[in-house]
Amino acid sequence: MRALVVGEHDGRTMRSISRSALQFARSVARSANDSIECLILGADTDAVIQDAAQFSPVLSANSAALADPLSDRYAHVIAEVVTTRNVDLVVAASSTFAKDVVSRAAGLLGGVMASDVVGHDVVDGELHLQRPMYAGAVLATVALHGHPQVVTVRTSSYPAVEAATEAFDVENIPVNEEALPNGMHFECLTAKESHRPDVTEAQVVVCGGRGIKNPEDFEQLVGGLADCLEGATGSSRALVDAGVTPNDMQVGQTGKTVDPEIYVALALSGAVQHLAGMKNSKKIVAINKDPNAPIFQFADYGLIGDVYEIVPKLISLLSSRTF
Ligand SMILES: Cc1cc2nc3c(=O)[nH]c(=O)nc-3n(C[C@H](O)[C@H](O)[C@H](O)COP(=O)(O)OP(=O)(O)OC[C@H]3O[C@@H](n4cnc5c(N)ncnc54)[C@H](O)[C@@H]3O)c2cc1C
Repeated sequence: MRALVVGEHDGRTMRSISRSALQFARSVARSANDSIECLILGADTDAVIQDAAQFSPVLSANSAALADPLSDRYAHVIAEVVTTRNVDLVVAASSTFAKDVVSRAAGLLGGVMASDVVGHDVVDGELHLQRPMYAGAVLATVALHGHPQVVTVRTSSYPAVEAATEAFDVENIPVNEEALPNGMHFECLTAKESHRPDVTEAQVVVCGGRGIKNPEDFEQLVGGLADCLEGATGSSRALVDAGVTPNDMQVGQTGKTVDPEIYVALALSGAVQHLAGMKNSKKIVAINKDPNAPIFQFADYGLIGDVYEIVPKLISLLSSRTF
């Protein structure tokens, strides 16, 4: 079996979520002849390549034409690499990038895909994949019949691989710039600068819900508590719809999936669509003034009360470390 892991990066290092995708590929590999390589796409990726080579053999598709994150070009290059190297299994972390790029590559390849995989077994030589469906209400087991197989994995289910003592090989893949699709043109990237970690990679996520009245209160309560815990901030869709938080902060079925060590829910009810994005968190802490809020059914620790009273006290305690 030949597996190709699509590595995500920030221009300097490979994201830790891609190391979880590598873990999945390694656990699926069955014989010493199986090969696993990690594909890094982009321009000026020397630092990323060096970082990625600590974890896996690397294929580098480095071209000025890949400098901008255009999914049609990235998908085209992935499909080319899969075809020319006769790859059987394409793996990526379940992320916004993968939704855009990897599923597009699967389409170009005429492959078969399972997304959001949380577990697997090999039954009579066949790979069986577990994935949540209906907003996490059921766990389905699927087998993919077709070639190549394309899988995205939830990173909470697969621990990130550790660095090896010696760097792996790096192979440069030629990119035929003339053949790249030209249907999309990059205009600009609007990203809010934040000193906080990305919500999908943070060990601690503090998430606010409709009970937070405005952006200032969100920053003070949700942001303030996140900063004390060196965590990321997220929000329910209710706050996104109300214009209190930006869209990229939304956690849930139609937002991001998070699985931190600690997830703190402030003034959010725990609707099924929200739970779909966070219920795999290792420890869930909830503060809500309604003792019957559904989130308490999933919380390891719950505090019944008003976040406007409790959270400033928590922030003050954590800041002064007097506990
Ligand atoms: C197709 C579809 C997709 C969806 N996708 C998502 C998604 O991805 N993510 C998502 O989050 N939602 C999603 N939703 C919306 C979801 O159904 C809920 O409407 C939403 O999650 C509710 O957000 P909330 O918990 O902040 O608000 P509410 O359900 O209104 O809960 C607010 C909570 O705050 C508590 N509260 C209020 N004030 C205070 C206070 N001062 N102190 C303490 N507690 C207080 C209340 O007791 C209440 O429990 C989706 C819905 C649909 C139909």
